[in-house]
Amino acid sequence: MKEIRVNHDPAELRLMLDHLGVAAFVIDVVSVDEYRLAAINARHEMHSGMQHEEVAGRSVDELLSPAMAAGVKANYRRCVESKGVTDYQEMLDLPIGRTYWLTSLVPFVDEAGSVNRILGTAYEISDQVHLELEARYQSTVMSAYLDESPDGILVVDADNRIKTWNRRFLEIWEIPEAVMQAKDGEAALQAVNEQVQDPERFVNRIRQLYASLDEEEQGVRIQMKDGRVLERYSRGLHGSNGDYWGRIWFYRDVTELQRMTEKLLHMSQTDPLTGVANRRVLMGQLEEEYSRARRYGHPLSVLMLDLDHFKAINDRHGHAAGDLVLKEFVRMVTPEIRASDCFARMGGEEFAILLPESDLASARQLAGRLCRVIASLTFTSPQGVFGVTVSIGVATLRHNDASPEQLLSRADLCLYNAKSEGRNRVRPSGDIEDCQSLVPGL
Ligand code: GH3
Ligand code: MG
Ligand code: MG
Repeated sequence: MKEIRVNHDPAELRLMLDHLGVAAFVIDVVSVDEYRLAAINARHEMHSGMQHEEVAGRSVDELLSPAMAAGVKANYRRCVESKGVTDYQEMLDLPIGRTYWLTSLVPFVDEAGSVNRILGTAYEISDQVHLELEARYQSTVMSAYLDESPDGILVVDADNRIKTWNRRFLEIWEIPEAVMQAKDGEAALQAVNEQVQDPERFVNRIRQLYASLDEEEQGVRIQMKDGRVLERYSRGLHGSNGDYWGRIWFYRDVTELQRMTEKLLHMSQTDPLTGVANRRVLMGQLEEEYSRARRYGHPLSVLMLDLDHFKAINDRHGHAAGDLVLKEFVRMVTPEIRASDCFARMGGEEFAILLPESDLASARQLAGRLCRVIASLTFTSPQGVFGVTVSIGVATLRHNDASPEQLLSRADLCLYNAKSEGRNRVRPSGDIEDCQSLVPGL
């Protein structure tokens, strides 16, 4: 290293500064408003993108934009006027881009007592500032999400201490703020426990999830005592090195969604006029009962019912009267059958009843009873008093039926026969085989 003498020329100043581990610069104070850059060191060059040869001796006003120069000069002036060490943070738009600095100015005071030179050192803190800005951004986004989320959110750490929750969580669970402020996960669990319909199952599952750190849960439904339905999502939180930090819980109120789903399901399965099942439901049940009857060798029968001369009722008494007849028909039939039987409107004025565990004889008996019950009904319209009758085809499962449809079409055929034989009657499938009990493999 070259010897450093007292009489510093710019080159020597530069040499001194180069050995500093921070960006350093020397400012010559020309006047209270004019400052010249006497020297910058190698590290300054590296961070700022300036070159000592190009900037030495030039005024701050020449080197920086007016706005930046004004900011820089204000700090220099503070140092000159206070004659003391001046520390501050600043943002500079330099040739290499936007940079952030932690700067310290040391004044040199001459014999006359005025500051004629300033030594500045500056740490570039752009990385830290960016990290800080990013962290601030993340936390702003996070709190906006927490505030606005339709989900109730709770974060609990590895020691079952409550870390974070949002307003929606308190609303969904009706937990007093004080319980949450105590940060005690166990106390909060007790508070929610009283609100669920099956507390034991609820608590066991929560403990199980706390014990199985990697386990995720998606969309588990929780029935509340007050009728609400919640949906729970949960996952463990792990640091980048795999450390377990805790668990995040999301609770969503899906009461309305569940109600709508049930309503839609009901609508898709029900005839809107009469309230009985529709054709699709009966066909599904038929498939199931057919397999069951086959497997266990149990009987299975079906009735096909069609109102007689229904078109004439509509024509004479009006469509509304026809609708009323359909509803009355259902109202009269329903109490005659078992809850396990499937009663469905197949379309128009045609209905079917699936009778699991019923053989031909009992199915036929029921059909006869229905015929009589319906024939006993009377209706009144402006056109006069009228009645209605029904024709019924009855069929029972045979061991050689290859599909459930065969059973159904046999009942249809019997219905057709009942119609052609004069209506208001029951026509059972007449095969001798129908009277035998079904034994698989026969
Ligand atoms: P059959 O004894 O041979 O069964 O004669 P029908 O007149 O009952 O049979 P057809 O098939 O000729 O007529 C059925 C009528 O049922 C025709 C249709 O307008 C009427 N219908 C179908 N659905 C409804 C409904 O929802 N309401 C009313 N009021 N009438 C309906
Ligand atoms: Mg008819
Ligand atoms: Mg018909």
